[in-house]
Amino acid sequence: MNDIQTILKEYEEIRDKNRQELEKRKKELYEKLPRLKEIEDEMIKLGLDITKAILMNEENRDILLKELHKKQTDLKIEKTEILTANNYPKDYLEIKYNCELCKDTGYIGSEKCSCFMQKLIAYRYKQFKLSHRIAKENFDSFNINFYSNEPTEKGISPRKNMEHILMECIKYAKDFDHHNKNLLFIGRPGLGKTFLCNSIAKDLLDLGKSVIYQSAPELIDLVRKHKFSFDNEDLEDEALRDIYECDLLIIDDLGTELSTQFSGLVIYNILNKRLLLNKKMIISTNLDIDEIIENYSERISSRLFGNFYIYEFFGEDIRLKLRNVI
Ligand SMILES: [Zn+2]
Repeated sequence: MNDIQTILKEYEEIRDKNRQELEKRKKELYEKLPRLKEIEDEMIKLGLDITKAILMNEENRDILLKELHKKQTDLKIEKTEILTANNYPKDYLEIKYNCELCKDTGYIGSEKCSCFMQKLIAYRYKQFKLSHRIAKENFDSFNINFYSNEPTEKGISPRKNMEHILMECIKYAKDFDHHNKNLLFIGRPGLGKTFLCNSIAKDLLDLGKSVIYQSAPELIDLVRKHKFSFDNEDLEDEALRDIYECDLLIIDDLGTELSTQFSGLVIYNILNKRLLLNKKMIISTNLDIDEIIENYSERISSRLFGNFYIYEFFGEDIRLKLRNVI
């Protein structure tokens, strides 16, 4: 099965599951409130009567149709009243969709829905773990209390600094369509850079944006594989095109890749192309500014320093604190 077939199968499963859940809710409620079952049966019958009335060609057809539609409306109102009176949501007996836009078909007309694009990217870039990570690491679960209030030689406390960065990140995701910012997170490991990348990714995925999230070594590996496997050129182009064209590209751990001429070229190409296309990026790195200058060519570092908002993370490793708390 190829990616697309796998995803279509997934939609089928989602639809089945939601249908079964609806049946379960119906069963439960019809036992408790039998009038609701009668209403459903009457609605089905009415539906048939309406179809028949439309097909027949008698002069009183319009009057009949009007009557039938009125009955239909009355039944709908009665159903809603019963549900509300018994403290059920109005749509309790409606099918629930994971995606309201495409009703879990993956398509809007002949166009792929944004949820389809997300799934496609998840498959192509093996981002299955991302959904687990963002379930745990998101703005709601971010804990500012792990950052110390003690002032540092930077002039402010790690906590003040983080409050500022956190606000900027929340805004970044919220106003995503209205800015053209790239972010560069700098700082030692364990200060929350990846956590915030995950949080932004979650909010954007929730908004239906396409997000590719890769560590620098993974990204370079991916490009290498596509460049040097010539068995399927179409797929190769399309996969690389996503890297350049997705709504947000997050590159985690820049600087941990094996530094070669090839890796330098890949990073340069990605930065350059996305900047030309006005496509946003977030990059996190454990390197400091001097180390970036040392490790990367001038054409890369100048793009980073010239086109990214730089946020410096400092303080103690919060993962150690977390461990002590637990
Ligand atoms: Zn959809």
